[in-house]
Amino acid sequence: MTEVRAYEPVIGIEIHVQLRTRTKMFCSCENRFGAEPNTLTCPVCLAHPGTLPVTNAEAVHLALMIGMAFGCEVPERSIFHRKNYFYPDSPKGYQISQYDHPLAVRGRLGDVRIHRVHMEEDAAKLVHAGSSGRIHGAERSVVDFNRAGTPLVEIVTEPDLRSAAQAAEFGRLLQATLRRMGVSDVNMEEGSLRMDANVSIRPAGEATLGTKTELKNMNSFRFLERGITAEIERQEAILHADGQIEQETLHFDPRSGSLTSLRSKEEAHDYRYFPEPDLVPIAPTPEMLERARSALPELPAERAERFERDLGVPAAAARMLAFRAELGDLLEAALAADGADARALANWVTNEVAARIGDSDPGDTRLEPAALAALVGMVEAGDVPRSAAKDVLGVLVDEGGDPREIVASRGLGAAGSDELAEIVDRAIAGNADAVEKIRAGNDKAIGAVVGAVMREAKGRADGGEVQRMIRERIGS
Ligand code: ADP
Ligand code: ZN
Ligand code: MG
Repeated sequence: MTEVRAYEPVIGIEIHVQLRTRTKMFCSCENRFGAEPNTLTCPVCLAHPGTLPVTNAEAVHLALMIGMAFGCEVPERSIFHRKNYFYPDSPKGYQISQYDHPLAVRGRLGDVRIHRVHMEEDAAKLVHAGSSGRIHGAERSVVDFNRAGTPLVEIVTEPDLRSAAQAAEFGRLLQATLRRMGVSDVNMEEGSLRMDANVSIRPAGEATLGTKTELKNMNSFRFLERGITAEIERQEAILHADGQIEQETLHFDPRSGSLTSLRSKEEAHDYRYFPEPDLVPIAPTPEMLERARSALPELPAERAERFERDLGVPAAAARMLAFRAELGDLLEAALAADGADARALANWVTNEVAARIGDSDPGDTRLEPAALAALVGMVEAGDVPRSAAKDVLGVLVDEGGDPREIVASRGLGAAGSDELAEIVDRAIAGNADAVEKIRAGNDKAIGAVVGAVMREAKGRADGGEVQRMIRERIGS
């Protein structure tokens, strides 16, 4: 028998976040996505000779907020470096970034340690015109400089993640956190949130890290998870065949599921980093730090914990309510209306409301928090069966209104106990075969009797209650 070794994946993530500032990182051009190409430019971000960069104070403030959100240490001074490279997306021939003196270090988000948070500028965007833009038979690319000089924060985690699913979950927590802070649009499709995953594997129990590869620019959490999964499988196959992992940068194609090599990994010295002579260091004052700290709202990780601890909401639901802040806001507003128990409300928000509204914001529907609280209260009190209540919820979402009136006017209220008892008796009389089977120990046969009751009650009865009544009557 051949021995199959178990490998443990090790993953670290690098995240680029475009900051939501009014202007760019080092010039006064507007920082906006979606404008006509090359309309948001100036001599500074087009790198005309003789121009000088000036650091955007608002960008520093937002970056400090990010550092604080992770509980990072903020060194007294951080400095900018030039990262030199040649590519059409960089008119200067270098990117202004931070190197060995980053803005913030040693933080944490959830279970993942944050290695560093630094500031830099974005590159221009290459738009591949494809075959329609052929010149001399070759496909053509054009450059949109609107993105050049957009403020970016790069967040680098320690290699603390151990599975593709965990990496995607971390990405979602990070996105929810940055969104709640309001520091970025965090839109992966528009590129305001971009993630690279560093992946290696090692024999289970081994302490040293294996050789890593880097998956570039995964533009959704689903692709991030699938890309990492594919890369772990690829590396396992290589090691099982006694091969060696090459350190390289890979592109994952979500359509074919294939991984292709972009380049062998470059080293820091390839970039000839040197201190940016045109910019002063960032030396945050106590006032700047305090202003960043006090600008932080309650963050999703804390909010999820609070929902769990104070409201008794199950962990998965608490996470959903915190990751989708608008659902958490709906829950809190409904709780303030004081119509129903917190756990029951949380259950309705995370299940029925979420299913009903899909990805949209409940604030954009007609659903009033107080109406939701009243509806859930009626279900809890047994005044309206759950199935009918779901229909009422649909009405509240589409048209708004008072759930009591909707229930009354549509005759959706639970059947009265006398009426229900009569329906149950009729169903028992009409399903003698099934009743015989139940008495003989075939418990599943009760479904036929319950079904008959529910049909006649037209949704105005609760399935559990009906079962209980049937059993009581036939003495099973
Ligand atoms: P590089 O010098 O190649 O950029 P860094 O040490 O700066 O590498 O790390 C970049 C990212 O890769 C970080 O998120 C880090 O946690 C992660 N990382 C580093 N080594 C490994 C490894 N062996 N396996 C997986 N991830 C790693
Ligand atoms: Zn500019
Ligand atoms: Mg690095």
